[in-house]
Amino acid sequence: MTETAETKAYGAYAGNAPLTPMRITRRTPGAEDVQIDIAYCGVCHSDLHQVRAEWAGTLFPCVPGHEIVGRVSAVGARVTGFKIGDLVGVGCIVDSCKHCEECDAGLENYCDGMVGTYNGRTADAPGHTLGGYSQRIVVHERYVLRVRHSEERLAAVAPLLCAGITTYSPLRHWKAGPGMKVGVVGVGGLGHMGVKLARAMGAQVVAFTTSENKRDAARALGAHEVVVSRNSGEMAAYRQGLDFILNTVAAPHDLDAFLALLRRDGVMTLVGAPASPHPSPEVFSLLARRRAIAGSMIGGIPETQEMLDFCAKNDVVADIELIRADEINTAYERMLKGDVRYRFVMDIATLAA
Ligand code: NAP
Ligand code: ZN
Repeated sequence: MTETAETKAYGAYAGNAPLTPMRITRRTPGAEDVQIDIAYCGVCHSDLHQVRAEWAGTLFPCVPGHEIVGRVSAVGARVTGFKIGDLVGVGCIVDSCKHCEECDAGLENYCDGMVGTYNGRTADAPGHTLGGYSQRIVVHERYVLRVRHSEERLAAVAPLLCAGITTYSPLRHWKAGPGMKVGVVGVGGLGHMGVKLARAMGAQVVAFTTSENKRDAARALGAHEVVVSRNSGEMAAYRQGLDFILNTVAAPHDLDAFLALLRRDGVMTLVGAPASPHPSPEVFSLLARRRAIAGSMIGGIPETQEMLDFCAKNDVVADIELIRADEINTAYERMLKGDVRYRFVMDIATLAA
């Protein structure tokens, strides 16, 4: 039997139960494992979808959290890339098959055997992975990322591990850059990173929000133009005006309203993962100008490192609101109302209290 260490965590025992303090166990690091003392963990809308069982297949107890940053506190005998004291991150992936076509390409996010940081199958107790709302985690070194930002910015780096890579990867894949007009739909945790990253890549950025009160804030994040999408007059001014749209909205909505804003051969990539389907598209929205709808899921480990290095070089971090662990249930309610600027991050030191 693998030795284990007890760790304080915050999680839920059922989909309709609030998150509460709990004790979990972590395995003793194996030869290729890195043990991390977690300092901060970002709060992703996926955490809420999963822990409230809005998505099928939630395993309980559920400890969410896949925007993890902290310091290495132990390494296995064969670990070569990390040493005790290093500043590191862990995102949405803690294991994969390591030998399929996707893993060989560094696209572990598309491996059939990918194991999520929470709710994934594992040999460790209790049989499924438990995430970053906890004091410590043990992860194979392949899935550990190096953080090159200064330590003062560590809390604001945490959201890069999911919100950052989930927006960076499609922006790179569809070649956001100078001369390209990019729309970012939804100015939440993912969307605000999408705006910052598209701007840092040199694109002309148009942010679309349902919230009138985010108009100025979205510009401050780096958007060149801001559209309140509930206002049909404002939307009409952008018809066939965009090359690419990154849609981050967490709820079902009318996709046709945004498809109409794409030029010929334009692509709208969905990264939002609502619990129920969108009511559209109307096929003629796609036929009319050879438009396409695509999807994208987080990013592979090499690209996540590339994103972290890009952000360190370009001084990009998330805009965050730091919370205590016992504020997590209120934070979820506020996230549902769009009342967060723009990512909650849990201070893991407050778990010890
Ligand atoms: P979030 O912080 O809650 O942001 C979502 C934003 O969508 C809101 O702030 C809001 O922005 C907009 N929105 C408009 N109408 C909405 C509605 N009826 N309900 C909720 N939001 C609405 O969430 P997030 O953490 O950015 O995550 C967004 C989605 O991406 C979630 O579904 C999450 O599960 C998914 N996700 C996917 C991946 C992936 O790999 N593809 C990775 C991480 C997360 P405005 O106020 O500006 O309108
Ligand atoms: Zn996430």
